[in-house]
Amino acid sequence: MELATFSALLEKIKKYDRIVIMRHKRPDGDAVGSTLGLRAILRASFPEKDVRVINDDYAARVAFLGEEDAAVEPAFYADALGIVVDTANRERISNPCFQICRELVKLDHHPNVEPYGDLMVVDDTRSAASELVAAFAVACGLTIDKTAATCLYAGIVDDSGRFRFESVSPDTLRLAATLLSRGVDTEWMFEQLYLGSFEALKFRAWVLENIQRSPAGVLYLTVTLDTIARFGITQEEASASVVEMSGIKGSPVWLVCIENADGSARVRLRSRHIVINTLAERYGGGGHKFASGASLPSVRDLHRMVAECDALVREYQEGV
Ligand code: AMP
Repeated sequence: MELATFSALLEKIKKYDRIVIMRHKRPDGDAVGSTLGLRAILRASFPEKDVRVINDDYAARVAFLGEEDAAVEPAFYADALGIVVDTANRERISNPCFQICRELVKLDHHPNVEPYGDLMVVDDTRSAASELVAAFAVACGLTIDKTAATCLYAGIVDDSGRFRFESVSPDTLRLAATLLSRGVDTEWMFEQLYLGSFEALKFRAWVLENIQRSPAGVLYLTVTLDTIARFGITQEEASASVVEMSGIKGSPVWLVCIENADGSARVRLRSRHIVINTLAERYGGGGHKFASGASLPSVRDLHRMVAECDALVREYQEGV
């Protein structure tokens, strides 16, 4: 990311008295950490500005990072700079009022498949949007207090698989070190992020018993509403099952399909070496090369997607 792009963002921020920060629907640790982290940085650096994080939904798992701001009348946005963080396409922005903002900034670390906004600060080499926010703050000499550092560190930890994915670069660790130096309580933070319930533990046992394997080795699992109700777990706990399928020899692609309350289904798709975001895009989704998401009309439609993943694995194996 060129310094000039960060400077352009800083200039836009300086121009506005009112800034509304937004993120994607069904927020994860990075979406919440990056937005609340950016809010803390801007509030500490520009105390005279009205800086808010306003969204349409909520993430119980990362509520410990702090509260978001209450909804306001649409007229509020007319004078505001909108900054949409961690969101690759307009359709996924959780606050529809982004369209009313005087100017809009896209601040993201996903491949820029759908450009939008008056300014784009997009760097898909960053492990997390939180890392990009930290890089911006450091490059521009903004104030990163303990609150901001905690939010951004949590976002990086969560989106980088605890500093394990290939997206982790020397700069990720340098920025993480800067954040840690602001007094992040990592023991407390890791407990908040990763302590699980007893129900979730019993559900994990069920997951391990029920994972299926396609002829080419794709691992997949369907979690219906009945299963979620039987174990008394949340949708978020059900979605976490995707991690159980990682790291299995001969299975470079894996996915979990979770039934939504309205009967549609959410798919979480992961891979090693095999690019799967183009496949996810064909199912109304997208994401990173090796970590994507998509939607299906129903869990019964999963077989088609598994068959396509199967073909991708065979193609890859033949090319190796
Ligand atoms: P998830 O499985 O929800 O953790 O998503 C993995 C990655 O794919 C994240 O970077 C998401 O932002 C992205 N993603 C998930 N669902 C969608 C979607 N429906 N459309 C576009 N990107 C998505």
